[in-house]
Amino acid sequence: MKELILASNNAHKVEEIKSILDDYKILTLKDIGYYEDIIEDGTTFEENALIKARTIAKHSGKAAIADDSGLSVALLDGRPGVYSARYSVEQTDEKNIEKVLAELNGEKSEAKFVSVIALVKPDGTEITFRGECHGEIIFEKRGNNGFGYDPIFYVPSLEKTFAELTSEQKNSISHRKESLDKFSKYLKEEDYEN
Ligand code: IMP
Repeated sequence: MKELILASNNAHKVEEIKSILDDYKILTLKDIGYYEDIIEDGTTFEENALIKARTIAKHSGKAAIADDSGLSVALLDGRPGVYSARYSVEQTDEKNIEKVLAELNGEKSEAKFVSVIALVKPDGTEITFRGECHGEIIFEKRGNNGFGYDPIFYVPSLEKTFAELTSEQKNSISHRKESLDKFSKYLKEEDYEN
């Protein structure tokens, strides 16, 4: 089976990525024994995904991929954006959600989830793949599945939040599904071997 190193230890992301890229063996940072913090100081999803993938490709001498993702709320000028994971002081899902809702102060807003997958090869090639999923922010948390901002991200066509979807349903329409599909298509066209 072909192998790819994924520059992440986020259990939810790793699980979603593994289930979408199911014909690859995905190695995490833990699997390759990498425990240092990677400073994500980019200002775009693309920059941060590349920072992570570049660090691990350099460290391992092999191709590495990374996902940088987040929620972009229209009425908040795109916030929390690249700061999605660390938006509140406490940096927990619950407090991050509270902060977004407090900033919206009851005003309904469109929002999108963004996922960028970066691939960095040992020869220095760098490519990014972007996926987006559009929805709205609702003020009452709904559902217990998923992670992060899922309970307040409402998809009007399904009349459900991301947290009310099964993982199969979420993985069939999510921002990460779109970025990973673009990435898989690239891998197939390249007939990629690590
Ligand atoms: P990253 O690890 O810097 O990419 O942070 C991504 C953050 O964006 C997560 O910690 C979540 O807060 C949020 N996020 C990204 N994707 C999702 C998703 O599918 N559902 C809910 N929140 C997400």
